[in-house]
Amino acid sequence: MQSERQQLFRSLCDEYIEMYASRDNRLFSYFSDNFSGYAGSSDVLITDKNEWIKIIKKDFAQVPDRLHLDMLDLSLQDLDEDVFVVTAFFHIHLPFADDILSKETARLVLIFRRENNLWKIVHSGISIPYDLANSNEVYPLKRLEERNIKLKQLVEDRTHELAEANKQLEILSNTDTLTNLGNRRLFNCMLTNEWNRSHRNKNPLSLILLDIDYFKQFNDHYGHLAGDACLHTLAHCLLQVGRRQGELVARYGGDEFVILLPNTDKTTAFETAQKIQQTIISLAIPHEKSPVGIVTTSIGIASLLQTEDHPPEYLLQQADAALYRSKIAGRNQIAEAN
Ligand code: GH3
Ligand code: MG
Repeated sequence: MQSERQQLFRSLCDEYIEMYASRDNRLFSYFSDNFSGYAGSSDVLITDKNEWIKIIKKDFAQVPDRLHLDMLDLSLQDLDEDVFVVTAFFHIHLPFADDILSKETARLVLIFRRENNLWKIVHSGISIPYDLANSNEVYPLKRLEERNIKLKQLVEDRTHELAEANKQLEILSNTDTLTNLGNRRLFNCMLTNEWNRSHRNKNPLSLILLDIDYFKQFNDHYGHLAGDACLHTLAHCLLQVGRRQGELVARYGGDEFVILLPNTDKTTAFETAQKIQQTIISLAIPHEKSPVGIVTTSIGIASLLQTEDHPPEYLLQQADAALYRSKIAGRNQIAEAN
């Protein structure tokens, strides 16, 4: 014969389970403001009543039709005048065919506490094991280990992909899209690096600045696409002639190119510039609007001995001034900085 108190607990518990099975929103009035609970099999402790209600609403929205709960065992523990605990084991049958929940035993623990003469749920924990543990394990350690290995691999793969993407981005941001040479950004960075290095090693550093002659007229006469092709051909030529180990050939912008020559003195830089000039002339790209009938370039050279105390930009200013002088001297010339 159950005591009156036991009957009360049983009816409170039945009411709760019925409301849950029939997806009845009145269930929410059961929860105490001081509620805590574990949702589903996620093992996340929730200490906020409203958060808990949000999860149940999601559950109701996902499966709105009535569930059938097949009760296997239910125990009620009277802990204190104002507290009792329900432990229930059951199978959950969803309103559609389901192989997991209907076969697994779920365990629900509810702690009811009397608050202002109303019995409220202060803690709820449901555990649905999903058959994760192997037959010789109490806890699904093997599965967890496998999952960890997969996760670790996934993190490694993602990290690798990200590093690759960053590398590509770095290359893109340093590359001129038309000629595939380095761009001004890369040049500025290399200029500082090489300037520092030559300062440390007390080596000379040279720079060749090169600008196509009458290139505006070339574009106007042959069209912009032919202009692009010319820039492309010259870029290729500069790479062939101007690049030794450690040298940088870059498109400085528009019809201007730069070649940075570490550990190179003025004399060698001048020889390199001559070689470049001759090779471009030997390409003999027709340019009807130039007085010489082919594409030519004007070149400025600057060299720094590291006994001199100048910032890296000084080298560029000097080469630019020399280039200007070779332009006004009639173009297709090489001029050295003073
Ligand atoms: P100068 O002999 O004094 O160097 O004369 P210029 O006509 O070469 O010099 P200017 O600086 O007036 O003109 C450079 C031209 O380069 C202007 C522009 O039409 C052309 N240009 C700049 N970038 C590109 C490009 O990406 N493609 C093409 N096709 N032309 C370009
Ligand atoms: Mg030009």
